Amino acid sequence: MNLFQNAKFFTTVNHLKDLPDTPAEIAFVGRSNAGKSSAINTLCNHVRLAYVSKTPGRTQHINFFELANGHFMVDLPGYGYAQVPEAVRAHWVKLLGDYLQTRKQLIGLVLIMDARHPLKALDIQMLDFFALTQRPVHILLSKADKLSKNEQIKTLAEVKKQLKPFAERQAVSVQLFSSLKKQGIDEVEAVVGDWFAG
Ligand code: GDP
Repeated sequence: MNLFQNAKFFTTVNHLKDLPDTPAEIAFVGRSNAGKSSAINTLCNHVRLAYVSKTPGRTQHINFFELANGHFMVDLPGYGYAQVPEAVRAHWVKLLGDYLQTRKQLIGLVLIMDARHPLKALDIQMLDFFALTQRPVHILLSKADKLSKNEQIKTLAEVKKQLKPFAERQAVSVQLFSSLKKQGIDEVEAVVGDWFAG
């Protein structure tokens, strides 16, 4: 079964208290501009399922999509926008932290990082939040097409090395991904499929 094919928009919420009651869900998170919307659209083979929106004020929405297996995929707000005031940024980080730490249905997290700028401070903060749950994280090094084959191999090895301390406390995996080249789709499906089968 192609897990992401025919994913359907389900609902948008703005507050954690409004989260829908799902059987199980996976979430996508990443810095603004990391390529999260593009990755979701690519995985779902859908041009505009997740909006590629560059309006920071509109990104507090938490979007739910229903997958082919009846479970859910959650598109979390991007973090790290340069233009927003510190107070707003702090609010987002708190919202994300609360969700990642307390959401019982969340069985795994897909963290998207630009392959050219991996493991920024806020990415590490997300890993720290989620570590408390002991659930697995899968990292997509996005926009891999912007790196040469050699650079891709080096980056992957380097990120794996940097993740070693994190891997001691929870399952962390990492792969290269490119929406432009449709690179790495099968790998994401296999990992996430295992989580749901889990
Ligand atoms: P988001 O803010 O994390 O949702 O990021 P977007 O998906 O909106 O992507 C941010 C920018 O990166 C856009 O200009 C995209 O066209 C570009 N982008 C996203 N994925 C890729 C990719 O795989 N390759 C390349 N070259 N550009 C990409």
